[in-house]
Amino acid sequence: MQRDKGMPLIKLGDLELTPLFDGFFRLDGGAMFGVVPKTLWEKRIPADVKNRITLAMRPLLVRGNGKTMVIDAGIGDKMDAKNTAIYGIDRSRNLDHSLADAGLDASRIDLVLASHLHFDHAGGFTIRDTAGDLAPRFPRARYVARTGEWEDATHPHERNRASYLQENFVPLMNAGVLDLVPGDEPIAPGVRVVRTGGHTMHHQIVLLESGGRTAVFTADLIPTTAHVNEPWIMAYDLYPMNTLAFKRTFLRDAIDGEYLIFFEHDPAIAAGYIRERDGRKYVEPVGD
Ligand SMILES: [Zn+2]
Repeated sequence: MQRDKGMPLIKLGDLELTPLFDGFFRLDGGAMFGVVPKTLWEKRIPADVKNRITLAMRPLLVRGNGKTMVIDAGIGDKMDAKNTAIYGIDRSRNLDHSLADAGLDASRIDLVLASHLHFDHAGGFTIRDTAGDLAPRFPRARYVARTGEWEDATHPHERNRASYLQENFVPLMNAGVLDLVPGDEPIAPGVRVVRTGGHTMHHQIVLLESGGRTAVFTADLIPTTAHVNEPWIMAYDLYPMNTLAFKRTFLRDAIDGEYLIFFEHDPAIAAGYIRERDGRKYVEPVGD
């Protein structure tokens, strides 16, 4: 069932990885699984009376080499009552709690890395201060986003406008704390980004490599463990055939390379290994 289990930190060479939690929200189940019929997906994640499924938001804390980084920051607390109801947002336990569980608070974060700038990933990047003004949520941090994603997010069209809320990222640029990175590059020792395209043209995953091992924060490439099935692709994706092509190659690498995968939106499983048996892919959870 859905839960927020405190997970012990996972050691990967010099890096310490801890899945964080910014609550649950709900999205239309059909939209989450694209062309897959409900008769199949509802066995994996059941729908409520409004056909919504519950998803988690699990940013990742990365500590190592003297740096404290978070990848994505959840939905944050700026949503109005109407959207809180539409998306069924439940942040009774949120990022502040999970940072505290890890012995931290927002002021201890040095670096905030964005997979992309949709509101369920970047909502937690900014807050309203006591005067009602928008400000960076992590007061000492540099923020990093991909150049192409920033361009698309700040020039939205009818198909993506509802996902790109300017209040989540424009204040970072105004405050001078946002760095744009154009390509697949190292962000910190053992941390590099790889563009997947698909979900958005410049959506990226984060590879964590240390001690001869690889872990991957897959963001919306593989949002839940149900999405390890190749054609299980979100209807939200702007370029689904690009998702399919990237995912096919990535899954092969992940299985053969024993990558530890972090699932940002899975309601129950924060991390696991992708396995294959008789041609069927499944996830062996870790931390249970
Ligand atoms: Zn998402």
